[in-house]
Amino acid sequence: MRVLKFGGSSLADAERFNQVADIVLNTYRQDPVAVVLSAPAGITNQLVALIEQVDDDAAVQNSLSAFKKIFIQLFEGLHQFYPSFALSPMQQQLADKIQQLKQFCHGMQMLKCRPQTTQAAVLASGEELSVACMKALLQARERPAEILDPRLLFAGEGEPLNASVNIALSRERFACQNIDEKYVYLMPGFTASDAQGNTVVLGRNGSDYSAAVLSACMDADCCEIWTDVDGVYNCDPRLVSDAKLLSHLSYAEAMELSYFGAKVLHPRTIAPIAQYHIPCLIKNTFKPQHQGTLIDAHQADQSVQAVKALSSLSNLTMLTVSGPGMKGIAGMSGRVFSCIAQQKISVVLITQSSSEYSISFCVHSVDAEHAVQALRSEFYLELKNQLLEPVEQVDHLAIISLIGDQMRSSKGVAARFFTALAQVSINIVAIAQGSSERSISAVISEAKSEEAIRACHQNLFNSRSYIDLFVIGCGGVGRALLEQIYAQQTHLLTQQIGLRVCGISNSKTMITNPEGIDLSQWRQLLSQSVPNGGFSLAEVSEMVRAHHLINPVIVDCTSSEDVAALYSELLGNGFHVVTANKKANTGDIHYYRLLRQQALKHRRKFLYDTNVGAGLPVVENLQNLLKAGDQLQRFTGVLSGSLSYIFGKLDEGMSFSQATRLALENGFTEPDPRDDLSGTDVARKLLILARESGIMQDLDDIEVQPAIAPDFDMSGSKEDFLARLEQNDDYFNQWIEQAKHEQKVLRYVGEINEGKCRVSIQAVDVSNPLYRVKDGENALAFYSRYYQPLPLVLRGYGAGSAVTAAGVFADILRTLNWKQEI
Ligand code: ADP
Ligand code: ASP
Ligand code: MG
Repeated sequence: MRVLKFGGSSLADAERFNQVADIVLNTYRQDPVAVVLSAPAGITNQLVALIEQVDDDAAVQNSLSAFKKIFIQLFEGLHQFYPSFALSPMQQQLADKIQQLKQFCHGMQMLKCRPQTTQAAVLASGEELSVACMKALLQARERPAEILDPRLLFAGEGEPLNASVNIALSRERFACQNIDEKYVYLMPGFTASDAQGNTVVLGRNGSDYSAAVLSACMDADCCEIWTDVDGVYNCDPRLVSDAKLLSHLSYAEAMELSYFGAKVLHPRTIAPIAQYHIPCLIKNTFKPQHQGTLIDAHQADQSVQAVKALSSLSNLTMLTVSGPGMKGIAGMSGRVFSCIAQQKISVVLITQSSSEYSISFCVHSVDAEHAVQALRSEFYLELKNQLLEPVEQVDHLAIISLIGDQMRSSKGVAARFFTALAQVSINIVAIAQGSSERSISAVISEAKSEEAIRACHQNLFNSRSYIDLFVIGCGGVGRALLEQIYAQQTHLLTQQIGLRVCGISNSKTMITNPEGIDLSQWRQLLSQSVPNGGFSLAEVSEMVRAHHLINPVIVDCTSSEDVAALYSELLGNGFHVVTANKKANTGDIHYYRLLRQQALKHRRKFLYDTNVGAGLPVVENLQNLLKAGDQLQRFTGVLSGSLSYIFGKLDEGMSFSQATRLALENGFTEPDPRDDLSGTDVARKLLILARESGIMQDLDDIEVQPAIAPDFDMSGSKEDFLARLEQNDDYFNQWIEQAKHEQKVLRYVGEINEGKCRVSIQAVDVSNPLYRVKDGENALAFYSRYYQPLPLVLRGYGAGSAVTAAGVFADILRTLNWKQEI
């Protein structure tokens, strides 16, 4: 005998019902079959709503209509497939059921209370109709079926809405049952009856448990749970898209997993089948050929990964009993837990402090108030005499658990678990380890549970890491970056890096998509989007929260002070910040320091390697040298690509005005070349290097000689300025002549020496590392304790959208290093 159970998602409509019938009939061709059915998807929720709003006639009417509609569509659909399907008897049965439900509601309204057994009778209605419908369908397909009534066969015990089944008693009842293998047996799931014959239900999702009990009662060869996923995954596949399917679990593992919240199995399902050694298969109704997950007594051997799976359980409350009265007094914990047990409240997890000064435990939040009352009355005297502190209650908690048979014999699992939680800044409220060492659990804030699962999955199963980007600014660098990302996305995926651009904004508008914007179309999407004011921190933060993105990165490709002013808040809100914008690092020194503090405090990266030398790896190299104990003694460098170009052309005999115009025409300068010639940009870069080396100056402290003749007036329009450029030529010609005479060339140099920063035109000879730097190249020479008398020289193109974007790209990938940083 095989017991097959089909969940609500497998029974959502006529087509699915019929698919289920296919599976049942195929199985029946090989073995005798008993089938447990849930209510069609959504039905139990409607019945729950009906009970909750029983005093509101309109709400009752709504729920009943929704209930009726689902079944009517189901019956009519099946009638269309099989004209012999008994449509009118089923419609009549539905009408009778609705009449009965109305009477139940009326009764509850009159009584002004909702007896639990009445609620159970209401809730069981969906399963009852589901089974009746399947019987009619099988009959229409010429396979006689019989219904097994769980109210007569299953001996329910405990809470009427969350009952357990007494298996020994139920087996006795089954022993008297005449089973004829020519029938397919059908049983409504979720349902049993108590000793008085009242209907009880087995808790939400309880049909899995019904199937397990039925398997035990019928000594089935196998219990098959058919659902809407391929089997049991190593964590909830709705939360982690690359969750891995498990081909096998031991009973003990499955029990822990379901106990700690994996919805795919009701927590009580495993006990009966483990007791009677019945193997259990989890299969996908929509892919019957797929092998599914096998659960049996076999324990994983040591070759298997120690952590098998992860799960989370929400809606928990932690209660703490503490005080001097706890210490060393025998029987305190006994009293705590027996008063809770007397109220039939289940304790999900317990932790005790080693001083014995306090006991904390978690209960389902629905039971919390009850539990607090029980504790207050049990410890009335101790509380009154201040031997105990008032019972502490913390709501909105969740438990994250790691599960695996082999965890007991492996090292480092707990460390990786807690590191993963720390990486996403999750505070651990309490920790517990199952005594079998098959599970380790951490209690955390419920709002963080999805993030926790994702971070743990990434860490423990080496799965794909995601970087979720929000790019601000779509000028040259932003555009080039988006193109580079688009070109690399597929390749990065092969290295298990999921790089998604979840938001793109310019000054007018922002487009977002938590799944990642299609980068083949970002321009159209941005231009078609209704202007919404550009980047919005509130909107982006909400998106990160709602979609539990664990590695969000803001990329600033603007030169805006306003955007730079947001970094502190962004870091505080859990974003990494990668920026090509120099404003934040060259502004107010307090803000400069604040950004570093924020990054440390929130364990986020603040990366700006492109601030100096564009794509050249300047900042990180310098930081690493200084971390290794080096000290900067002197720095000299050509830090501007445009001025490198212009001064290089002067060597070749070109006049200053010609060289500047050529640089402008070739796009080597800013749109207005005065932005380069003024020297401010070079001063900013120099300031960043100085601050990096511990010289905490401001922009005003830097002595700047513009790259222009001293008496030249730079004001006025750009056109006017360009028209007067020749006025500089004499000044430069003279200087160049003199330099040539001394076998030197002119270079526009940023220099740090003895704590002073200076930007100036310098004549340098062939021994100077800057002598050969021209054509837009940058060069940076660091003279330090370790690098002297020959400096460390970094040299290469230091401007241009493509190299800058590549530098930004490298910084973006560096955000993944956060994994190693705790
Ligand atoms: P049914 O209607 O068949 O009873 P459920 O919705 O109760 O189905 O349970 C199946 C769902 O459980 C899956 O669709 C999946 O979203 C969820 N689930 C949670 N954790 C896991 C897990 N570890 N493995 C598989 N499914 C899981
Ligand atoms: N129909 C019930 C529920 O939705 C039982 C089940 O589907 O397992 O909780
Ligand atoms: Mg279920």
